[in-house]
Amino acid sequence: MLNLVLFGPPGAGKGTQSNLLIDKYNLVHLSTGDILRGEIKAGTTLGLEAKAIMDRGDLVSDEIVIGMISSKLDNNPNSNGFIFDGFPRTAAQANALDNLLSDKGTSISAMLSLKVEDAELIKRLLARGQDSGRADDKNESIIANRINEYNNKTAPLKDFYAAQKKLSEIEGLGSVEDIAKKLNSVIDNL
Ligand code: AMP
Repeated sequence: MLNLVLFGPPGAGKGTQSNLLIDKYNLVHLSTGDILRGEIKAGTTLGLEAKAIMDRGDLVSDEIVIGMISSKLDNNPNSNGFIFDGFPRTAAQANALDNLLSDKGTSISAMLSLKVEDAELIKRLLARGQDSGRADDKNESIIANRINEYNNKTAPLKDFYAAQKKLSEIEGLGSVEDIAKKLNSVIDNL
């Protein structure tokens, strides 16, 4: 199986690149942000609980997102592999993911980490907020909180995967096609 963690701060291009990778490598895309937004749209209890947290730019509880990923893994038993986008975001989530995959006799193949500087992230997120109407992309102080959460709780996971010799850092500035080529070359050399 090919199991990839597509990593990086909000606005780094994880969703865009995931969409290209799932087609090229025939993978299942698991974005916890997309799953949570689906729950909000469907008006579920989980969605209602998550909405206020997401609107502030805080992280939803580990228990909730780990449960969501666990059931998605169970629902796709014959997949060629998975792209984890926006997950894991904390040490507890990274440990849980290793355990869930190990229970299924597989593991993470690589973490592909997109590097983009803060000023560019803010510009991209505000532009996306105008197009998509996402509440957490529209307000600069919420964006700043999300980048803060990333720096404090999520960025340290690079060390977790580096210790397993699985980390590749990729420059996330440039055309979508150029970044895709760089990602493909890392994956093809795994
Ligand atoms: P994203 O679409 O990945 O930018 O996620 C949007 C929001 O959903 C985040 O700001 C968090 O509030 C929540 N979220 C998504 N994934 C996670 C996760 N793995 N852990 C905690 N919160 C998450």
